[in-house]
Amino acid sequence: MLEEDAKKMAESGATLSNLSTESRSFPPSEEFAAQANATAEWYERGDADRDAFWAEQADRLSWGEKWSEVLDWQPPFAKWFVGGKLNVAYNCVDRHVEAGNGDRVAFHWEGEPGDTRTITYAELQREVSRTANALAELGVGKGDRVAIQLPMIPEAVFSMLACARLGAMHSVVFGGFSPGALKARIEDAEAKLLITSDGQFRRGKPAPMKENTDEAVEGTSIEHVLVVKRTETDVPWTEGRDVWWHEAVDKASDQHTPELFDSEHPLFILYTSGTTGKPKGILHTSGGYLTQVAYTHNAVFDHKPGESVYWCTADIGWVTGHSYIVYGPLANGATSVMYEGTPNTPHEGRHWEIVQKYGVSIYYTAPTLIRTFMKWGAEIPEKFDLSSLKVLGTVGEPINPEAWMWFREKIGAERCPIVDTWWQTETGAMMIAPLPGVTATKPGSAMRPLPGIGATVVDESGTPVGNGEGGYLVLDKPWPAMLRGIWGDEERYKDTYWSRFAEQGYYFAGDGAKYDADGAIWLLGRVDDVMNVSGHRISTTEVESALVSHPTVAEAAVVGASDPTTGQGIVAFVILRGNVAQDEAKGEEAITALRNHVSKEIGPIAKPRQIMVVQELPKTRSGKIMRRLLRDVAENREVGDVSTLADDSVMSLIQSGLKEGKGED
Ligand code: ATP
Ligand code: MG
Repeated sequence: MLEEDAKKMAESGATLSNLSTESRSFPPSEEFAAQANATAEWYERGDADRDAFWAEQADRLSWGEKWSEVLDWQPPFAKWFVGGKLNVAYNCVDRHVEAGNGDRVAFHWEGEPGDTRTITYAELQREVSRTANALAELGVGKGDRVAIQLPMIPEAVFSMLACARLGAMHSVVFGGFSPGALKARIEDAEAKLLITSDGQFRRGKPAPMKENTDEAVEGTSIEHVLVVKRTETDVPWTEGRDVWWHEAVDKASDQHTPELFDSEHPLFILYTSGTTGKPKGILHTSGGYLTQVAYTHNAVFDHKPGESVYWCTADIGWVTGHSYIVYGPLANGATSVMYEGTPNTPHEGRHWEIVQKYGVSIYYTAPTLIRTFMKWGAEIPEKFDLSSLKVLGTVGEPINPEAWMWFREKIGAERCPIVDTWWQTETGAMMIAPLPGVTATKPGSAMRPLPGIGATVVDESGTPVGNGEGGYLVLDKPWPAMLRGIWGDEERYKDTYWSRFAEQGYYFAGDGAKYDADGAIWLLGRVDDVMNVSGHRISTTEVESALVSHPTVAEAAVVGASDPTTGQGIVAFVILRGNVAQDEAKGEEAITALRNHVSKEIGPIAKPRQIMVVQELPKTRSGKIMRRLLRDVAENREVGDVSTLADDSVMSLIQSGLKEGKGED
């Protein structure tokens, strides 16, 4: 059968094996479907006349001057809503106040120590206006770059919107990044202002922040540092350069008239999370970006303004925070929860406590967190009332079917549609995802491109593969929220995304994917991570999902390590579930059982050569597993660049753990 499989693959030009099958499927309830924002007919409209479809979506926004043309496409350079003028901050804030919704809550903010703040749209308008006036006073204007390194506090949102209001670009950098990482990003963008805080709360304790940012701004283009007081930590101070937020912003006027900017005016630069290597400064612009984030936030989450309570658990420092904490929800007049801290501070039920407290109806998170919740155990969410939940979402990595089922059962009470949303920093907004009132979802699949979006799985030569086959994910039509370039590096933009399938003019996403027998799309992980075992190209995702489907395993990462006989051998790193007797599950018998389990689930070819039980996996700050570092470990190499790692002690932990036991048979 495997021989046949390989032959079929060679004939069809397919580039990735299709090993797993999934027969479970969950259609939306009739009730849900009847009240859903988006209907099946949207797909038809998106296909029939793409420009008209996007023109309709652009009408979600308030344009100061209407655009004359939907799209000007000079591959690979796009202009969307040509000639249109708008102010992004006005769209996210002022217009809701003008419409009489000033009393609506924009953010229920929850601090890690338990302090809270409720911010209405009217208050948001005053705060953003004050911040914009203070920034202008510090010399920030149209086209300038402002670096922001802040914890998850309301001032982060005020800062981003103030930049948008002034036509300045923000470059938000993760709160947990080192001075070196911040410095590199400041230098690359030539930022003139840095907004930061005295400190940040990390697992219940204040940690210094400004000390680090001072190191980062040394010798750069930064003229001023605007400092929010969050933790009351003593800070070093440079007179003339440093300015307290509470002095500059609080005394500024709360009246500010937004100016109109071109639809293609730059909105922000954001560096990718750096899973694969040197981070890229992705450039996004205004009208198209805001159109697509507003559209997707409304359609994919079935968001009802004034009714839904929406919570996206991402950090503001990565693209999900930009598009689905700030711009999408605010463009739609949403009421959001924003939480400052970690999910286990002060206890492992903190998220569920927050859901219960605010009556959260839409909960959007990352697979890594779901697997962590699985590890902690279902008895934790069981203690809370989660009946307000209506829609659940995931982003960031492929979600293992078992984690999807756990999410559905333990959090969604088998009632809430789950939307698995595939997209990237580069795409700016969701691209492949179910529509919750339309799609019968399958655990682990992002299903199909959203209405108006073109995505295809192709082989080596750029030919679409058939159902049941795997290959490369490409985007075959321009989309409004697409990146407009890599900051300061046009060649890298062309090389990275547009050279692989230049002939066809496809955007190469860098991810592997397959169609199942029904034509649903399954993301299979990064092309760079694909393993080659005896000529079979095997995705990391499928083997990981097979491991996670074993009752003892909460999380798994697999890599291909060079192997004298098979080319590459599969090496797996697994984290066990909390309730499992760890010593027993680490034993030789248990490991053999796990290897056999994979073999049974997806075939002998995918049987790991080696399985190692670890406590933690190396992840980026956005929660993605960094397989390239595990590959270094598996091949006994010195571990590569760890600067974008959330916790760099993890690697030495794994390496020392490995010396104890090998787990081979
Ligand atoms: P870098 O490009 O620097 O390596 P990164 O790709 O991790 O960083 P992001 O833009 O944050 O930075 O991540 C996008 C990637 O995340 C996608 O290309 C894909 O690999 C993965 N991803 C995101 N959402 C999903 C999803 N729903 N299913 C599968 N994979 C996903
Ligand atoms: Mg990427």
